[in-house]
Amino acid sequence: MSASLADHEFALCLTHDVDRVYKTFQAPYYAVTERDPSHLRSLVTGERPYWQFEELMALEDDLGVRSSFYVLNEKSFLREKSPRAWLRPENWKLFAGRYDPTDPELVDAFRTLERGGWEVGLHGSYDSADDRDRLRYEKRALEEVLDGPVVGGRQHYLNLVAPRTWEHHRAIGLRYDASYGSSTRYGFDGRYGVIRPFDDEFVVFPLTLMERALLPWAPSLEWAWRECRRLLEEAHEHDAVMTVLWHPRYMNEDEFPGYRTLYERLIREARAMGAWIGPCGECYELLERRREASSSQR
Ligand SMILES: [Zn+2]
Repeated sequence: MSASLADHEFALCLTHDVDRVYKTFQAPYYAVTERDPSHLRSLVTGERPYWQFEELMALEDDLGVRSSFYVLNEKSFLREKSPRAWLRPENWKLFAGRYDPTDPELVDAFRTLERGGWEVGLHGSYDSADDRDRLRYEKRALEEVLDGPVVGGRQHYLNLVAPRTWEHHRAIGLRYDASYGSSTRYGFDGRYGVIRPFDDEFVVFPLTLMERALLPWAPSLEWAWRECRRLLEEAHEHDAVMTVLWHPRYMNEDEFPGYRTLYERLIREARAMGAWIGPCGECYELLERRREASSSQR
């Protein structure tokens, strides 16, 4: 991988929001709401269809790329939420799939990622967008299990109270945020570079494409691919920083056919087009180096 963005046509940042790692807890919920008892299978057999760390590492290693994994530290449903909140079905969806990032098995997965050159960043919890103390706590909790510092991340559900969320991020020592974007629309919206909300070293990576904004509505996989290809061409034309989000559970081809194929094809095509490909954290470092070089020339 080249140490300079200048050697490349454009940049493609790969990110994964780790919202859920076990399907176990939401299985009964989906079995009831979708009247599909096959969802119960994962409870009975102990299968873990959403545990995709090894699969993703193997896939990206084959492709010769690395990416960012953003880790969620959601509030505990029973301990930190009121009994009234337990009764709201939308809260079931939010908190029932909660995992504990200090669970030894998960710590092991995060450390394996970190040692293998992947970025492990912060996925700020649902209520944290305007809660500096909570964000600071979540960042520290994650750093306690990692070797290196946490340099950036993305808010869960893209919850953003701009510019306050970014002020919080900067104040607790994050260097970048990747929450600016949409879960229903995709594209550049005329913005091809990163944003510097404070005109300093803090950077915002706009989200170009979330898999869910494209695939469920696409008439066919081929159509979805043409949209991806169009975005890559636009990125190429404008020397853009393009950021994509694939949630790890969508790598399960049995449940979500096409998602993994599309992700793989996107990376191969970007490579063929001369893109730099990697985690946001690494892209941030390269952008910083470029900024320092250009300011020392002045
Ligand atoms: Zn999320």
